[in-house]
Amino acid sequence: MRKKDLQRLWALVDRLSRAQRQEVIDRLKAQATAVESIELVESARHQSRSCPHCGEHRIVRNGVADGLQRYKCRACGKTFNALTGTPLARLRHKGKWLDQAQALADGLTVKRAAEHLNVAPSTAFRWRHRFLAAPRSVKPNALAGVAEIDETYVLESFKGQKVVGRKARKRGGSAAKRGLSREQIPVLVARDRSGTTTDYVLSDSRKAAVMAVLKPLLPPDAVVCTDGGGSIGQAIKDLGLEHHRVVTSSGTHAIGAWHIQNVNSYHGRLKGWMRRFKGVATAYLENYLGWFRALDRTPRSPRQPAQLLNLAIGA
Ligand SMILES: [Zn+2]
Repeated sequence: MRKKDLQRLWALVDRLSRAQRQEVIDRLKAQATAVESIELVESARHQSRSCPHCGEHRIVRNGVADGLQRYKCRACGKTFNALTGTPLARLRHKGKWLDQAQALADGLTVKRAAEHLNVAPSTAFRWRHRFLAAPRSVKPNALAGVAEIDETYVLESFKGQKVVGRKARKRGGSAAKRGLSREQIPVLVARDRSGTTTDYVLSDSRKAAVMAVLKPLLPPDAVVCTDGGGSIGQAIKDLGLEHHRVVTSSGTHAIGAWHIQNVNSYHGRLKGWMRRFKGVATAYLENYLGWFRALDRTPRSPRQPAQLLNLAIGA
């Protein structure tokens, strides 16, 4: 802006009413946080700068659009910016992105997130899942050393979906049958002694489903602790791994260093944290598991909004 224009702007600022002044303040604040968000995502993406369309590294700057540096690929000729190909591409209101990331860090419910962001609950819901689309698949793909494995169950839910021919159940209610009821979705959680944790929503509790997730996860020298046999025990046996069953007739115990206390306490924290949502739609279960993994990884140093924003773009 030219110096002369700025002087005129100051003269106009003096004439603002109280309400208008607040409007200007709010607008400038939103703009400043939008710039902050843009700087964050652009610096997070800077290292791996290549064309998201074809992978080419020969790229040139090509103007600025929507506050973001635009690039043009010299190979395929297409343009892109730091958000192209990420779940946040073309998402509006960048001035609220860090607030959204804060809502994730705080584990806010949709209702409270909507208040925090000053948007409709439907928008808060949509934004939540846009921000979780990348974290849902951010998980370690290998464990090392002693691995504790256990299954937990999450009540199947069609929350938010219209299902024909099914009786509505009270939100967050309990399943008609416990254990292997079809209404319980099995989630396998595996954690090694360094705290590396991963989880899988299983299609069912049978051995084939368990094998499919454990085979790539566990190295041949892994030592596995579980609370018993079942499909998990059979899968571990088929994989030829050292297996310590830590269940006795009177319940689960530690047998020396062999126990599943770490994975069980993870279950406890996960379920305790999920209670606030009063049942999550099964279609989104992976998103919630990814959300919790992102938060639980650093219990002593809570996730900062900037980190969660970077996670949301897969950086
Ligand atoms: Zn290209």
